[in-house]
Amino acid sequence: MLHVVDSFGRIGEENAFAVLARATELQRQGKDIINLGIGQPDFATPEHIVEAAIKALRDGHHGYTPATGILPLREAVSADLHKRFGVDVSPELVLIVPGGKVTMFMAILMFGEPGAEIMYPDPGFPIYRSMIEFTGAKAVPVPIREENGFAFSAEETLALITPKTRLLIVNSPANPTGGVTPKEEIDKLVAGLAAHPDVAIMSDEIYGQMTYDGLEHRTLLAYPEIRDRLILLDGWSKTYAMTGWRMGYSVWPKPLYEAARKLAVNSYSCVNASAQFAGLAALTGPQDAVHAMVAEFDRRRKIVVDGLNKLPGVSAATPKGAFYAFPNISKTGWKAKPLASALLEETGVATIGGPDFGVYGEGYIRLSYANSAENILRALERMGEFLATRKAA
Ligand code: PLP
Repeated sequence: MLHVVDSFGRIGEENAFAVLARATELQRQGKDIINLGIGQPDFATPEHIVEAAIKALRDGHHGYTPATGILPLREAVSADLHKRFGVDVSPELVLIVPGGKVTMFMAILMFGEPGAEIMYPDPGFPIYRSMIEFTGAKAVPVPIREENGFAFSAEETLALITPKTRLLIVNSPANPTGGVTPKEEIDKLVAGLAAHPDVAIMSDEIYGQMTYDGLEHRTLLAYPEIRDRLILLDGWSKTYAMTGWRMGYSVWPKPLYEAARKLAVNSYSCVNASAQFAGLAALTGPQDAVHAMVAEFDRRRKIVVDGLNKLPGVSAATPKGAFYAFPNISKTGWKAKPLASALLEETGVATIGGPDFGVYGEGYIRLSYANSAENILRALERMGEFLATRKAA
């Protein structure tokens, strides 16, 4: 009998990958599947970025790099943060990591243990809760509400802090809701956090460049008063259509940086060298492809929201960021997960049930509009027929 430690009985996962596997299997059986389940841009990584990685390999960048990432890349991250937000971040505090996820993995490992509490958005990215529970800490959900435009509420968040709270995770623009928390609410949260100086904050800003309707992304880096306890999570996956490259970065407060670097040394050593050169080309090269992709998401966003609001029993708030719609399906009579499952099995449309993002996700499904407008329209048509004819299971 093998004795795997108990914490592995508590680790979760991302159901989006299970849906992807099922959708792929149905496709293999010859079914026509429209995948609105997966959270990755349906664009190719821009050519100049791919070329930079190939060149790096040809130039002999085959070895280990520093665990923290190559200096020019950390400098480019600092320059990019300055250009986008006017903030000064030392390259010495930037850590290059293999994907956005790794920052949350490290931050939660640093603060989670039995007896501690970690707060996370619900509905939210499922790995937050999974990792918190893995550490033995208590996972405290911060409800993200439709009536609040899927922004987080500073008041509700602050009210959930206890003397045991070690880490607060926030995410705007948000997965799975597309919510963007307005600056005033973030101002309020930061002001309230002054009364809780022992609480660290991890801000997941991986969709920071994907906002719409002229709304500006507000980074938590803009608040000097919390910089000594703020961990910023960002990366290349979404912005540059680079999910498979595994490229992310974090900004750490000085005392935590060393701990994060040691976690890197103890696990992956460094990020793939050629991918780091690709990341450098992404940040320092032309940004047209990013703007074009966001403009296309914006166009599809309108199509998907319009279409969803015409479906029987469905109402969809207009997402302000990321590339997800999170329609309310409670009036269809269906529970979210059986609906998502029936839509995939019976109509070939892959979506994700809201409860896969937390208990407050019941009554909603997530649709990613990282698919062509034509496919989105076909999916909406199939969903409309299904809801008009099929009784709730
Ligand atoms: N944070 C959020 C909110 C996400 O939605 C995702 C990916 O879906 C990630 C982090 C992880 O990104 P990566 O693929 O770079 O690990």
